[in-house]
Amino acid sequence: MLRLNIKGAAVQNNPDTTLVTATGPIANHTHGGRAKCLQRLVRLDLPVPRTVALSFDAVQKIAKGEMPDVANVVAEMPQGALMCVRPSSQDPDWGGPGAVLNIGINDTRFEELCTTIGEEAAAALYTRFVQGYAINVARLDPDMFDEVSGDGRAALTQSLRAYEAETEEQFPQDPEVQLTAVLRSMARAWDGTSARLLRQAKGAPADAGLGLVVQEMAFGVGNGQCGSGVLQLVDSDTGLRQITGRYLSQSQGRDALASDAGSLYLTCDPRGPSLEELAPEAFKELTEHAALMRRKLRAEMQVEFVIEDGKLHILDGVVVARSSRAAVKIAVALADEGIIPREEALMRVEPRTLTELLHRQIDPRSKRDVIGRGIAASPGAATGRIVFSASEAQASASRGEACILIRRETSPEDIRGMHAAAGVLTERGGVTSHAAVIGRGLGLPCVVGVSNIKFNLSKKQIVTKEGRVFEEGDEITVDGSSGTILAGSAQMIEAALDENFTRLMGWAEDVADIGVRANADTPADAQTARNFNAHGIGLCRTEHMFFEAGRLTVMREMIFAETGEDRRAVLERLLPMQRDDFKELFRIMQGQSVCIRLFDPPLHEFLPMHKAGQRELADALNLPLSDVTRRIEAMSEYNPMLGLRGVRLGVTVPEIYEMQARAIFEATVEVSQDGEPVVPEIMIPLVSARREVELVKTAIDAVAAAVRTEQDSSFAYRLGIMVETPRAALMAGEIAPHCAFLSFGTNDLTQMTYGLSRDDAGRFMSDYVQQGVFDEDPFHMLDTQGVGELLKLGAERGRAAQPGITISLCGEHGGNPESIAFCRDAGFDYVSCSPFRVPVARLAAAQLAIKHKIG
Ligand code: PEP
Ligand code: MG
Repeated sequence: MLRLNIKGAAVQNNPDTTLVTATGPIANHTHGGRAKCLQRLVRLDLPVPRTVALSFDAVQKIAKGEMPDVANVVAEMPQGALMCVRPSSQDPDWGGPGAVLNIGINDTRFEELCTTIGEEAAAALYTRFVQGYAINVARLDPDMFDEVSGDGRAALTQSLRAYEAETEEQFPQDPEVQLTAVLRSMARAWDGTSARLLRQAKGAPADAGLGLVVQEMAFGVGNGQCGSGVLQLVDSDTGLRQITGRYLSQSQGRDALASDAGSLYLTCDPRGPSLEELAPEAFKELTEHAALMRRKLRAEMQVEFVIEDGKLHILDGVVVARSSRAAVKIAVALADEGIIPREEALMRVEPRTLTELLHRQIDPRSKRDVIGRGIAASPGAATGRIVFSASEAQASASRGEACILIRRETSPEDIRGMHAAAGVLTERGGVTSHAAVIGRGLGLPCVVGVSNIKFNLSKKQIVTKEGRVFEEGDEITVDGSSGTILAGSAQMIEAALDENFTRLMGWAEDVADIGVRANADTPADAQTARNFNAHGIGLCRTEHMFFEAGRLTVMREMIFAETGEDRRAVLERLLPMQRDDFKELFRIMQGQSVCIRLFDPPLHEFLPMHKAGQRELADALNLPLSDVTRRIEAMSEYNPMLGLRGVRLGVTVPEIYEMQARAIFEATVEVSQDGEPVVPEIMIPLVSARREVELVKTAIDAVAAAVRTEQDSSFAYRLGIMVETPRAALMAGEIAPHCAFLSFGTNDLTQMTYGLSRDDAGRFMSDYVQQGVFDEDPFHMLDTQGVGELLKLGAERGRAAQPGITISLCGEHGGNPESIAFCRDAGFDYVSCSPFRVPVARLAAAQLAIKHKIG
């Protein structure tokens, strides 16, 4: 290196422009992550070129035209050194303006460099700087260099002339002038609207700061072995230990990463020459430095390096980019090696990214032919041929063909079709609509509320905005993670529930201090819940069981029964089927809590809507078609979600709840005989008044007493209510004394608090969010202010009236990290969410407990 100017003290003690030494006052929150990382590398005694860090404050002042003492910064560098400037934002993910290299080069320095590194290399550096400066700093039109031809001195001369012609000034020769202009342009770029929006989209606060680092250039060009590259010790996709990266002789910056650069491999490779063979000493030193960085910086780092005439320089280190699978693997490996504690490993994985591990994903490197967008309702991706009805989906499955079920919206009638489909697409709906809830429960990719595709269901077509038509049998892909619909198939990455995932989940279980149960309706759901170690089932929606093959007709017969006695007789036939359902759930859950919600939907959801179905029903019930149609019409409601459903059915048609209670108790007795004792939880939906609970409780207690006597057995059970009407939350003090638990159903509670239909909100939700009416879709992210107020109030009143009462949340918000934080703060006992979201919820809960511990 060149002769040093010994002026360090002046810069080192200046909080705005600080020389990066082992002890300089540099911090992440004042100078940004890159500056802090460079200081750590200096402390490790790594060969880092001399660097001055500019603070967030300094850069803010620069943007306003107040320059720091640039002469002092230049004086910090060895005499005549060229410099580069790189951004240093607090979080590297927030980005920043591109690096500018070779600042300080001018005609004199160029001639000197011709003698030290050769004319060709010197001319390449100078030309690159002139062009970069013109475009990025002086903001000139890149086309002005279109005419530049050849290379070496000729290209340089033409570039300088083009600059002078355009600006009518000589290209700036003074390094201080060059550096001043570069700093100003980078500071202003950070303040620009597009940069601001971009980083805010990545979660940066509105006032996020930018630091800059000015570093002495280490040349990757010149005599001897010169070049630049990057190296990391793990594979970014898998997280497995493997030296990866690229090196390019006679290059600078990130040139080596360009796909057509002709870069070398790092380690010996049969496919071509490698750095290991070309410069074994430098390679050895490099890998040793990388290993030291990993150990001391306690993270897998990507090292940016330069080799200058065989000598290695470390320019920078950034935490490696990594897939979610790699993030888990890396965190677990670092903890296993004792480099970080387990709690820190848990904090290193973003809970939401776990969904990528739990489902098939479209390979991010593959091409996407996007034909439409909707709401990402259930994560994962699937390819299949289009079908337009549940029965076609089943037929397709029986032929072994993957299909995508397209519906305007789904209803319980579609459930069997959904089971058979690989993915679901609906025109209407939001994150808590039927398709979304069932999709998440089944782990079935689902996109709902697709507004930019026309659904022409009578013609069995969908038509994109651009007029592309897709018909029954055409292949499409739904990506329920991003809410996109693609034409044809796509390259997929399989789910990766490996040992690392399981271990991380085990650690999360050890620290989490709020329970996580699963919403599970079927044995398959329950098994998934069990596999993810859910603390029981928090919501079993029993109505889905009545859509099973062989039950629907019996159900319809029950609905058509004229008297209570007739109804009971039909329900007798459903009883053994329900008993078997519950026995299976209890067995799978092996003594863990199972909370069964009594029948909730309006009865007419079980009746056929179309003439053909009504004719079949008339046949099955031996009734005239007109009778059937009339009865169906008579049962229809203007607003079924607020009509005869939930506990209102329990009160007015008590036979259904009595049958369900009997099935639950008989299953309890049977399963307790040969396994863990079962204490079932029975939950009453849609309660709004105390008397509703009293009536249902009296009926269920009577059934319990009858079963105890009949079976000569004693068992306990817990009765609770779903708090999903605002009134239930307000009246929790009156209702709680009759209950063992209160479970907030935030789907309906959100719907009723806002007066916003959960099935229709998808149509305008994006407008509402875009225009800032709602910060977020309240069906997706719990509205902690309004709905949250009801939750707190209900919990407080419930607890005051019945100390020790169990409080939980079982709406879709239960799988959402922010909502879990709210529930934890409010002292809830557990949250319950779709089985596939249990790991996300568990990790979020663990992180909350850790954050709470460290304060
Ligand atoms: C709810 O309303 O929050 C709930 C869990 O029940 P469902 O989604 O079945 O209405
Ligand atoms: Mg509900």
